Amino acid sequence: MTIFTSATDADGVATITWDLPGKSMNVLNMEGIAELESLFDAALADDAVKGIIITSAKPDFAAGMDINIIAKMKDSAGENPAQGLMDGLMNMHGILRKIERAGMDPKTNKGGKPVAAALPGLALGIGLEIPLACHRIFAADNPKAKIGLPEILIGIFPGMGGTTRLVRKMGVMAAAPYLMEGKTLAPAKAKSAGLIDEVVPPEELLARAKEWVLNAKDADIVKPWDAKGYKMPGGAPYHPAGFMTYLGSSAMVHGKTQGVYPAAKAMLSAAYEGAQVPFDTALKIEARWFTHVLMNPSSGAMLRSIFINKQALEKGAVRPEAPDQSVKKLGVIGAGMMGAGIGYVAANAGIDVVLIDRDQEAADKGKAHAESILDKGMSRKRVTQEKKDAVLARINATPDYAALDGCDLVVEAVFEDPGVKAETTQKAEAALPDDAIFATNTSTLPISDLAKASGNPENFIGIHFFSPVDKMMLVEIIRGKETGDRAVAKALDFVRQIRKTPIVVNDARFFYANRCIIPYINEGVRMVAEGVSPALIENAAKQLGFPLGPLQLVDETSVDLGVKIAKATKAAMGDAYPESPSDDVLFELFDEGRLGRKSNAGFYEYDEKGKRTGLWPGLGENWPASDDQPDLTTVQHRLAMIQTLEAVRALEENVLMDIREGDVGAILGWGFMPWSGGPFSWLDILGAGKAVEICDGLTSEFGDRFTAPKILHDLAASGEGFYQKYQPEADAA
Ligand code: NAD
Repeated sequence: MTIFTSATDADGVATITWDLPGKSMNVLNMEGIAELESLFDAALADDAVKGIIITSAKPDFAAGMDINIIAKMKDSAGENPAQGLMDGLMNMHGILRKIERAGMDPKTNKGGKPVAAALPGLALGIGLEIPLACHRIFAADNPKAKIGLPEILIGIFPGMGGTTRLVRKMGVMAAAPYLMEGKTLAPAKAKSAGLIDEVVPPEELLARAKEWVLNAKDADIVKPWDAKGYKMPGGAPYHPAGFMTYLGSSAMVHGKTQGVYPAAKAMLSAAYEGAQVPFDTALKIEARWFTHVLMNPSSGAMLRSIFINKQALEKGAVRPEAPDQSVKKLGVIGAGMMGAGIGYVAANAGIDVVLIDRDQEAADKGKAHAESILDKGMSRKRVTQEKKDAVLARINATPDYAALDGCDLVVEAVFEDPGVKAETTQKAEAALPDDAIFATNTSTLPISDLAKASGNPENFIGIHFFSPVDKMMLVEIIRGKETGDRAVAKALDFVRQIRKTPIVVNDARFFYANRCIIPYINEGVRMVAEGVSPALIENAAKQLGFPLGPLQLVDETSVDLGVKIAKATKAAMGDAYPESPSDDVLFELFDEGRLGRKSNAGFYEYDEKGKRTGLWPGLGENWPASDDQPDLTTVQHRLAMIQTLEAVRALEENVLMDIREGDVGAILGWGFMPWSGGPFSWLDILGAGKAVEICDGLTSEFGDRFTAPKILHDLAASGEGFYQKYQPEADAA
């Protein structure tokens, strides 16, 4: 395979061009590494070559590593995967170091060949780590291009020299947003931040890089850390200024990650230890910490869920065969909180929207919501006036159902009332083309029951968004009993158009996400009733990596919603409803008018600006903390296992059809311990045997709701994991 090519022009500039065959985007694979090295070696050895440019033939430079590289490195040393990784990383460091030193005399730093990177567009991960090893980075002025090192967001860190080089280039404080938060920037901002050196008109990219290469002096190509007297910007760890930074960043990282993300901790260790030793030793330290992270099951699970499987679902991994179902004109009925958000995201993706409510005023209010989101974007300079005007022009706000004429998809988001929904369905279908798909955004009503109001139940489906719609990335698609494949394909194509991540589940009470979230909330609230300290409950959840503790989650979603769901569930289940002390707590708060954030009072107290000030002391008066507090692990096992078991039951009952969806949906839907890769990945990390042991302990102490489902017992008996048994081909990472 030819991935890199090299051509030397009459002026002696060798241009090494990256062009991965058959792909729209470059990613670095094993063959690519070898080709880059041999072409660079040849250019260095060729006396006719005065300088080198590394660029791409595609509109972008590169999106990062081919993820399979990790598995290949692990396999390369047989029984010792850590050795394979370490060898692979040190080989890569060697190649990038060779580019950086470019044939210079080690003592005099003279005689090297200038190397420029010329980035036509996006440059992420290794796509920036290679340029960072070059002597000057040119980027085409392309405001859409992203430049940065986003590895931390998928559970790893820049381990091909990116961490060591960026810390030495800009100091740990300035590098923190890029390394620790994975922040990416458009070229102009990347230049101001010091990530790259030059932003040039796209058509001049190669000419400007060449001009620099031909004029560069010896001193221009020596990296600061290879020059005499180098001092780290902001100070090294034992410099007074550096000391404060390193001390502070350690606390900051721990505060943000609660210590559960191995990559953040390892990256900080690589930066801190690396800053105290010569550059080449620092690279070795970086490689060791990177190996450590890649050997940790958490990073593999995160990569698998957040990177590989999320992308697979977005690309239609579970889409039924059907011709393209892209939405041309969308109807949204109900312009309240959800409908307004759905209308906005669709219009923002270029789809014409008819936004209907009961009267013009209510419909306009929904459109005004879109306007306020766009205004916020404008104040942050992310949205232009033209973009705002174009998006708003796509939204036709009206009370007139006849405007639905020509819509190929409708999403209904009216009140959560079967009667109102049935009437809406019939009124809409009267105005819609026969082959239009009708979707409901209900969160609690069975899709198959709502479909009874439809004349075309095979065209009736659930498309369940999460609030706030413009921010939440997950969309749950629910197949009713009679829903046809074309409706599923339509829903999936729509979710792709609005650039969110879909999961497809079968119809059952609370579908998938709410089915798991509700027991999490109930378990937390139940502990309050038992006299467990509320601070212990909340902190236990946060230290597991949940964005919100269960009590804060109730405050955010509102206590009255919890009461409403409890009442409706009891009415639907009758005697089968499991009575729980958590209901007593919720009902009590409700009676006291403590409805959560919206009433500025709930499990927490709030100041007049709505800022949370602390847990409500009244909790301790109503439900006194017991003298005998449980240990942290017990509280964490209860909170994590109660929802994980619900995910397993959803799989067992065929509500969930694919564990990838279960894992990705849990992370995106309610922030399930992202470090674990999701509930199924977490059980695989624990091992089914250990999970059953934990469940047995919890069952004997707290009740049958912790009983391990049969499929978990079966896995414990066979010694397999969920990904081995249910998704063998997805286990690559
Ligand atoms: P909301 O009360 O904010 O909005 C409902 C809107 O529907 C109101 O503007 C109302 O005027 C309008 N409406 C009522 N009857 C109508 C009719 N016959 N024709 C046209 N418009 C009508 O409610 P919401 O929070 O946006 O929820 C809407 C739906 O979305 C519900 O089914 C709810 O279960 C579901 N949902 C809500 C959330 C959430 O977090 N709020 C999350 C997911 C799903």
